[in-house]
Amino acid sequence: MSYAATIAFAGNPNSGKTTLFNALTGARQRVGNYPGITVERKEGQFNFNDLKVNIIDLPGCYSLSAYSEEELVARKVLVDERPQVVVDIVDATKLERHLYLAVQLFELGVPVVLALNMIDDANKQGLRIDTARLSKLLGCPVVATAARTGLGKQELTEKALAHGRERAGKWEPLYISYGPDIDPALKTMSEKIEAGCFMTNRYPARWVALKYMEADEDVLGAGRLLGELHDELEKIVAETREHCLKTLNTVPEAIIADYRYGFINSILKQEIITREKTQEERIDISAKLDMILTNRVLGPLIMVGILYAMFFITFTVGEIPMGWLEGLFGWMAEMGTVLIPEGLVQSLVVSGIIEGVGGVMGFVPLIAIMFVMISFLEDSGYMARVAYMLDRVLRVFGLHGCSAMPFIISGGIAGGCAVPGVMATRTLRSPKEKLATLLTAPFMPCGAKLPVFLLLVAAFFSEHKAQVMFSITLFAWIMALLVSKLVRSTIIKGEPTPFVMELPPYRMPTLRGVVIHAWERAWQYVKKAGTVILAVSIILWAAMTFPGPPAEEVLQFEAQRQSVAAATLSEEQRETRLAEINNAEGQAAIRHSVAGRIGTFFEPVSQWAGFDWRTNIALVGGFAAKEVIVSTFGTAYSLGELDPEESTSLSSRLAADPTWNKYTALALIVFVLLYAPCFVTVVTMAKESSWRWALFAMTFNTALGFIFAVLIFQVGSLLS
Ligand code: GDP
Ligand code: MG
Repeated sequence: MSYAATIAFAGNPNSGKTTLFNALTGARQRVGNYPGITVERKEGQFNFNDLKVNIIDLPGCYSLSAYSEEELVARKVLVDERPQVVVDIVDATKLERHLYLAVQLFELGVPVVLALNMIDDANKQGLRIDTARLSKLLGCPVVATAARTGLGKQELTEKALAHGRERAGKWEPLYISYGPDIDPALKTMSEKIEAGCFMTNRYPARWVALKYMEADEDVLGAGRLLGELHDELEKIVAETREHCLKTLNTVPEAIIADYRYGFINSILKQEIITREKTQEERIDISAKLDMILTNRVLGPLIMVGILYAMFFITFTVGEIPMGWLEGLFGWMAEMGTVLIPEGLVQSLVVSGIIEGVGGVMGFVPLIAIMFVMISFLEDSGYMARVAYMLDRVLRVFGLHGCSAMPFIISGGIAGGCAVPGVMATRTLRSPKEKLATLLTAPFMPCGAKLPVFLLLVAAFFSEHKAQVMFSITLFAWIMALLVSKLVRSTIIKGEPTPFVMELPPYRMPTLRGVVIHAWERAWQYVKKAGTVILAVSIILWAAMTFPGPPAEEVLQFEAQRQSVAAATLSEEQRETRLAEINNAEGQAAIRHSVAGRIGTFFEPVSQWAGFDWRTNIALVGGFAAKEVIVSTFGTAYSLGELDPEESTSLSSRLAADPTWNKYTALALIVFVLLYAPCFVTVVTMAKESSWRWALFAMTFNTALGFIFAVLIFQVGSLLS
């Protein structure tokens, strides 16, 4: 019978050779003994992609020295039968010890493919082995296998056959240095062996020299027949042995073994094996961590501390890239003004698109940083603990521990979205608790409201950014809880249900995982800014531009400008006057537009809360998407800009505007926090409950927000 290839299986006893052998050959195997001895010889065949493959299962051995019959037989088969390739099966959980045989196979020079067997056990023990790197360092193919399940046997066969073909019967011995005491002796001996052609038709010369040095009985026996060469070799060995005993107090065999392990260790040290904690260990560590992190007293304190730290980091770190983006969009607006001739197109590009979208995009760095931290908390398993700890509080307000997740997803730690938040209420089993959660989740400061708060906080509370943002979040929770308590004790009365929720063991989040999760969310935000917000910005720009001011009004402003030009004024006074006129003209123009009329229509009522017609435009736009509030401010304030020469950031423009103060800002923040959820959320709420409840949320929330805004503004006006 002719075979396409013969593969020899080598490996330490109990590395799984026989199991792998059986997995590949099935029933087609022959078992016998090696001639004259009782060592078992097993052979088998199988077909692989139309190739007939023959496997010899070598006796299990720890090395290739002639210390035992098994080792001697294994070596003889390799040398006499010259299989195309040797598959060395090593136990992946005992890599260091098992690689000792591999090193000797490399030294012999046979083509070797390494099978990292029992990879299933290794993984269970938390071991991760970088096979690609190991393969590169060892210079031979490496395949992870689990012989018991057959995992990897296809790949192993493929690689073994390919490697055998590639090497085409050529042996390439690996050179390992054995140090200054042995290397020179080996060199002299190899030269003599080479010259005398002693066993060199079967073994590499240096290998024969090594065996002499190791006092290998088999090789020595053959050597004794040589006479003179043997005596010369023996003499060198004796000298080296004596030298080693004198200087290192040990025999050459021990030094050789040390250097082989040294070679193995130098490879394994290069981050080949990483050890993760096993499941039991992680559960154990988790239990210990939970004694502190979810402790009745310490737990909530730590939780508040962690959340506060998150705000602090976001604002201190995020400010830097935010400044860059602001600069970038400022520069773009300037370029737009310079490059595009004055007129409608310039106004559309600069005021409508750049200022509108730029106002929203400027917050991307802050939001990205916040998402990174939220992803970290989620991936680590801490977020589930937050829900667990909050259950005790939530229960008092007619909610459930599972309500925490919808709240957090909606932005309960800032930067979520109420749409998935409302959807997440599905995990609540009790319909009443679900309804209460769903109605109150949109109060949370979602990623779209954040820019509005950030803008106003930057303009009016720049000294205490993190504190104010933290308070806003806290206020959102308080309102959500109080409203929930209100509805749960009136329109949706009922008993609370017990808390059951998974608390998975803690795990160290990977950088990759956190970055991917954060990126997914931040990208959603950027995409929205590039599509929905762009569209709404343009629509609102048009609503704020058309219809233009009546002709007589334009003439009136023109006349004012001419009178300024004619009057005797200093250059500076003239410029200020002209800027004032331009500003008044811009304001008059917006006021005359569709949006201005809508805003003005609501002004008699909205002014109780301190909102003028421009804020009203923004708030109406905000129903389409909350981000639009910022872009509309951007557009409204750039259309009626005080000093067109100087492109200042929107927040400084708001801060400089005389109609604004801290209380107006605060009233607006609270109104934006509480008023009707955005259009998409309302639709989602209707799907999860009914239109009746969705419309209830719209009107109730808007009324609630307005009452609070009026209170804040009126009290503030009395105080200031
Ligand atoms: P041999 O001495 O190298 O022929 O090893 P065997 O094939 O007899 O296997 C020794 C033991 O290891 C047996 O109990 C096998 O069931 C077990 N074993 C072999 N391969 C695997 C493997 O990939 N995973 C696990 N978990 N056990 C294995
Ligand atoms: Mg066996």
